[in-house]
Amino acid sequence: MTETLDIPLLIEALKKALGYHGEATIPLHTPSFEGNEWRYVKECIDTSWVSSVGSYVDRFEKQLAEYVGVERAIAVVNGTAALHISLLLAGVQSGDEVLIPSLSFVATANAVAYCNATPHFVDSSMETLGIDVERLSLYLKEITKLTGNECINKHTGNRIRAIVPMHTFGHPVDLEPLIELCDEYHLIMVEDAAESLGSYYKGKHTGSFGLLSAMSFNGNKIITTGGGGAILTNSNELADRAKHLTTTAKTPHRWSYYHDEIGYNYRMPNINAALGCAQLESLPKLIDNKRKLAQRYSNELKDIAGIKFLEEPMFAKSNYWLNAVMLERNFAQYRNDVLEITNTNGIMTRPAWNLLHTLPMFRNSPRMEITESQNIADRLINLPSSASLVVSSI
Ligand SMILES: *Cc1c(COP(=O)(O)O)cnc(C)c1O
Repeated sequence: MTETLDIPLLIEALKKALGYHGEATIPLHTPSFEGNEWRYVKECIDTSWVSSVGSYVDRFEKQLAEYVGVERAIAVVNGTAALHISLLLAGVQSGDEVLIPSLSFVATANAVAYCNATPHFVDSSMETLGIDVERLSLYLKEITKLTGNECINKHTGNRIRAIVPMHTFGHPVDLEPLIELCDEYHLIMVEDAAESLGSYYKGKHTGSFGLLSAMSFNGNKIITTGGGGAILTNSNELADRAKHLTTTAKTPHRWSYYHDEIGYNYRMPNINAALGCAQLESLPKLIDNKRKLAQRYSNELKDIAGIKFLEEPMFAKSNYWLNAVMLERNFAQYRNDVLEITNTNGIMTRPAWNLLHTLPMFRNSPRMEITESQNIADRLINLPSSASLVVSSI
């Protein structure tokens, strides 16, 4: 049975939610610089501390760790680098497999590949857009055997070392059952919290559950450092290792260049951290605005047949980083029309990512049956989500 989606009505509702009167196109996401950004960055330039020396990196790391509620944060060049080092420190080795959702940004899979490990793709749930723990549990029961403290994929003979839940568009994954699963199968959890700064699972900040977690401060994320990322952990030992590995493994010395292992030049420059310090100061306000915008979408879209605004899961408080609507099952054929018409009407919208297991470099990677992720990708549309949309349209 096909039903008709009232696209003109949808456009009107979106315009109303956005307070849009046909000016320039509304972008999907823009950063907001309304605090001390200019002042802190200028100070870096005035003092010439723009790069690998300066106090903003330490300050950013402390501010971030405090906000999230973890012992330590290590600032790095981008979220992908944060994932790479987190996986290395989780003990992911050449030949291992790492469970990741197929519905994610390519960085999640690339970081696994950088460790010479193989991404093993899992399906996501329609409710949370994150890993479907229930179905994963059945799948692991079928395809793995436990040898000592190791989880072995019976089909490939490889060890499955870790799992990387990703909090899609800021909405937290159901972490409690996932943590139980990790215990049962001796999997180390590394959170891809790139999109979920400011999101909480049962009152506790996302990115504080994994042994290590990765955040991103790319230009399109809830706060930005231009480009940047961070590794979060409650282990001081892992944090020290992360700092060492991301700063070329140089041993501290006044003048000698001595490096005691192969390290990475992943350090966040001071000028980027300066921007980050100012952005963190504004974060509560940004989240507030984003949640207000989500509320507006929710109100305006609630009576449109065939489309559902994506709300935060019951157990979560989401940062609503990127708002989304889901077309109902029998309205899926309208996805491209909606994308086409919104974009020509000045409202920038985008589909979800192409599923990672369909990309050429990951096509032969192991995976469970992936059906819901495809279903989500076929029906989901992201909406303009800048925090500034709330302020400017009042
Ligand atoms: C943004 C993002 C990353 C990291 O991106 P960088 O651009 O390297 O900072 C990783 N995973 C997900 C899901 C992301 O959205």
